[in-house]
Amino acid sequence: MKIDSQAIPLAYSIAKEVCQGTLKPSVGVKKLAFEANMNVNSAADYINNLKLMLKGRRFQRTLNYASMDYFLDKISIDYGQAFLRKALLALNQHIVYYEGIGKKKTTAKKMRSLLDKYKETIDSPEYIVNLTQLKLNIETLENFLTSTDELRVISAQKLIKQGICYVAYQVGNELRFAPSRYLGYKGNEPYKYLLDIHGKETNKVIADILDSQPVESPDLDKLYVSYCTKLGFIPSAVGRFGVQRKFWQLKLEEDFPSNDDAIDGFPEGKIVERTHKARERNSKVVELAKHNFKLKHGRLFCQVCKFDYKKVYGKVGDGFIEGHHTKWVSDMPADYKTKPEEIALLCANCHRMVHRKRPWLTMENLHLIIKNNKA
Ligand SMILES: [Zn+2]
Ligand SMILES: [Zn+2]
Repeated sequence: MKIDSQAIPLAYSIAKEVCQGTLKPSVGVKKLAFEANMNVNSAADYINNLKLMLKGRRFQRTLNYASMDYFLDKISIDYGQAFLRKALLALNQHIVYYEGIGKKKTTAKKMRSLLDKYKETIDSPEYIVNLTQLKLNIETLENFLTSTDELRVISAQKLIKQGICYVAYQVGNELRFAPSRYLGYKGNEPYKYLLDIHGKETNKVIADILDSQPVESPDLDKLYVSYCTKLGFIPSAVGRFGVQRKFWQLKLEEDFPSNDDAIDGFPEGKIVERTHKARERNSKVVELAKHNFKLKHGRLFCQVCKFDYKKVYGKVGDGFIEGHHTKWVSDMPADYKTKPEEIALLCANCHRMVHRKRPWLTMENLHLIIKNNKA
């Protein structure tokens, strides 16, 4: 991408404003194109790249060396090490992609030299030394898995999907799985240390803490696969590189506090329930379902009991209603897009009741229950 070197700081500051939400993307693109005298597509690339770098996601368009150098430097100053790591992760994925499509080797080499330069400025990770630190990593992984931020969910899923050695941790009668190469680093977050993964080292550390070696187990492998399926993704057939997955077993005394309000005693487990609810809280499709419902009925009310939040609570209740996904996450293929028709709009009471039974009550079921109990 051609850019006047004097325009690089401008490109960064406009891109930053867009990322912070203080400038509309379309306005940012026009502004940058105009002020830096560059074409609109290149301006859009600069803005998009910063967005993807801050999210740790691969970008496709290459910035020139000076621009990339400036962007990385500013990210570390403005956003700190955690985001610099993400940006480097994005750059790393970009290089792999770039080499993969057979583009110019010299460009990839230059980018790699930048990657190495900035990698040296970040602290190297420390390994965990005790069970408490291991549990903390498990908890972080669970929080990512049930986050309303889709990118966090995906990064947690990827980790669980791609491991070779796992800690199978049992909470109550539920078995969940976390990969060793993630668990072994102190204070870890999914993909925080992706640039410096050494599975061998983390396995050693965990074997020490749990005082045992991981073992192959067809039974645990089946349970692992079913755990992934319930969470809505399909794991690789065997561990990567054709290696059989191995497992440690760990029994936890208590569940993590974040699971406290998930309903116990259903076969799919608390984490799956939490994941599902997080999707219901966040999804754009819920907003769309609300919008469609309002167009059709003129206002929002519970589809089952007709409760109208605005009528009862006035201004505070205006616009409030909960969306219930009538499909289970595990019944959807990984790239499944929920349709607004699959969202039932329910008051908080009806929603809770629906979640108390397996299989879930249908809207008709619930309607009938209410009617019969009134009689
Ligand atoms: Zn209701
Ligand atoms: Zn629901």
